[in-house]
Amino acid sequence: MRIALIAHDKKKDDMIALAVRYRDVLAEHELFATGTTGTLVMGETALPITRMKSGPLGGDQQIGSMIAEGKMDLVIFLRDPLTAQPHEPDVSALLRLCDVQSIPLATNARSAEIMFRALREKAI
Ligand code: PGA
Repeated sequence: MRIALIAHDKKKDDMIALAVRYRDVLAEHELFATGTTGTLVMGETALPITRMKSGPLGGDQQIGSMIAEGKMDLVIFLRDPLTAQPHEPDVSALLRLCDVQSIPLATNARSAEIMFRALREKAI
């Protein structure tokens, strides 16, 4: 499965904690991430991750493009709902494309956990 990992700045610690906790699950899949998120998760887990540009510099759109082309299977996007993002249009576009393509999407850590547990149990 191709999995995208994206986290806004205030959610990056949550993403790292998730990636460490579910490293065994992530290791079985092909991982993609926006630039900073990818660098941090790679640093903590040593998992191979294809890194796009940083989100505000186009990384969300690069992942959105993969979704539009049917090249992404699951998206973990830990959004910060309390901070205005300069690239909000890109964020909305990415979320919209997940719905257009019916791609499983988790926008908070607990939803992501449910998805990772399902993957661990080979339930999805
Ligand atoms: P980043 O991008 O991983 O490069 O910080 C995330 C985002 O803000 O979309």
